[in-house]
Amino acid sequence: MWKIPLSDVNFGPEEAEAAQRVVAGGWLTMGERTQAFERGLGEALGSPRILAVTNCTAALHMAYAAVDLGPGDELICPSLTFVATANAALACGANVVLADVVGPHDLTLDPADVERKITSCTRAIAVVHYAGYPCDMDAIMDIASRRGIAVIEDAAHAPRSTYKGRALGTIGDIGCLSFFSNKNLSTGEGGALISRTDELHGKLRLMRAHGMTTLTLDRHKGHAFSYDVLLPGFNYRIDEIRSAIGLVQLGRLEEGNRRRRALARRYHEKLAEDRRITLPFEGFEARGIGESAHHILPVLLPPGAPREAIMAAMKARGIQTSVHYPPIHGFTFHGATDRVRTEGLPKTDEIAARELTLPLYPRMTDAQVDEVVSALRASLDEVLG
Ligand SMILES: *Cc1c(COP(=O)(O)O)cnc(C)c1O
Repeated sequence: MWKIPLSDVNFGPEEAEAAQRVVAGGWLTMGERTQAFERGLGEALGSPRILAVTNCTAALHMAYAAVDLGPGDELICPSLTFVATANAALACGANVVLADVVGPHDLTLDPADVERKITSCTRAIAVVHYAGYPCDMDAIMDIASRRGIAVIEDAAHAPRSTYKGRALGTIGDIGCLSFFSNKNLSTGEGGALISRTDELHGKLRLMRAHGMTTLTLDRHKGHAFSYDVLLPGFNYRIDEIRSAIGLVQLGRLEEGNRRRRALARRYHEKLAEDRRITLPFEGFEARGIGESAHHILPVLLPPGAPREAIMAAMKARGIQTSVHYPPIHGFTFHGATDRVRTEGLPKTDEIAARELTLPLYPRMTDAQVDEVVSALRASLDEVLG
């Protein structure tokens, strides 16, 4: 339907074969594929404390619960993120304080605004590594550790991104990954948790499966016949079909990210010539702070430009675009409830109105990047005159 879609899965016949083998084998959940997937993720990210779960929203819910975020507490997170980052805290009964981003050249959480918004109720900060680019983790960790506040990394965009040589998701207390269909590593629905300590890892393992002391696989193998329940947990387990697909996808991640990087670089080179466009994160990787997983390709339109008309002009040329994100404080529920604090977000307001996301996926060709860039120029000419 689209000549160039916004994103596309990076699947081959191996994913279908892996899923088929699980179905034929008949062991469908919490088995050896999940253990192998967790081991593989751990090797890729440099942490032995990984738990695969049903999706990233569940991972965020568990992460917040594991650092005891509850009624009366506050979570600080950016307004410029997917709504799950905030909703998972509301589901814990906590209040949410929305913070601003750094600016047009860095769409990640602004540590200075976080510091301004800390109160005696702040229990956790959730950072979002927007598009795969790291937040200023040194500043965030410093602010948090001085006050005993937990740091949760929403690393849904950032599998194998790095900050000063460390994988994103492994720096804060808990990192959360997403394996949703359009993410860099896709299992349809899926996610993972990375814990900084054995204590958090153990707690999250219990929470994933009802707080029960023995796992299905152990009981099946005859290692255990009974169980106790140590905390009121959830069922946020992943299944073996998804883990098998995830293992194949994990093998494609590094190459897929490398291809995304080359495409993003090409976009930046071509778009730098057009002074109507602002490029967030321009030159980031040349500064040597870290590497992005390049989950999406955001650009900023000129202030006041009619974005919907430009998106329609792109659509007329067969090119799908999107917006990341409609800010959380603009939603009906979050804008009205007194459980979400929405003051002081001037940069988010400016940037969210101008942001446009262009197509990016590993199988995209250089010629397709060039086509999107020419289409964007032609659309701007047409709409802005
Ligand atoms: C996709 C995404 C999520 C939610 O992930 P699911 O696996 O779909 O639950 C959370 N945060 C961000 C920033 C995301 O992009």
